[in-house]
Amino acid sequence: MQKVKIPQKVDPRYTAAKRLDYVGIIPKEKLERLQGIVEEIVEDAEVRLTFGVDLQGITAIEGSVGTAVKCVCQRCGELFDLKLNSEIRYTPDLKKVEELGLEDLYDYVEVDEFGEVDLYQILEDELILSLPSSPRHEDADCPEGGKEWVAGEFIEPEKANPFAVLSKLKSK
Ligand SMILES: [Zn+2]
Repeated sequence: MQKVKIPQKVDPRYTAAKRLDYVGIIPKEKLERLQGIVEEIVEDAEVRLTFGVDLQGITAIEGSVGTAVKCVCQRCGELFDLKLNSEIRYTPDLKKVEELGLEDLYDYVEVDEFGEVDLYQILEDELILSLPSSPRHEDADCPEGGKEWVAGEFIEPEKANPFAVLSKLKSK
């Protein structure tokens, strides 16, 4: 079955008033920032979005985004498959959310001068945020899995976390 691309930009208030849902994909070629981080994006991103207005009148964009990528295992240096998935709940109604104290329930999304949000951008952000900070095989799948993992042990000195260096400096 041919999968449809979701629109890149939508007006969330209009779309919510119409109670539209989107099920479709973001072509993997469009995920350039994610492509710059992982070794390979294996699948187009699968997207499910529901637009609606809740009982308090808050416009909500809810749903999920997921894809499959290949990363270099930080323990053994070989490629492995990783599934990414993220559940999302966004709103452009920051004021209302703050008045009602619902900041924990919603992430804020800014609309542009046309009242639109860039779905590709926020969903790609979600995929990037769902990446593990130190991607590696499950222990059982990793040739080096029997060895004890010590964070940072296999990281080149120049790639080491700059904050770790800072905290060392501070403790002196
Ligand atoms: Zn490994």
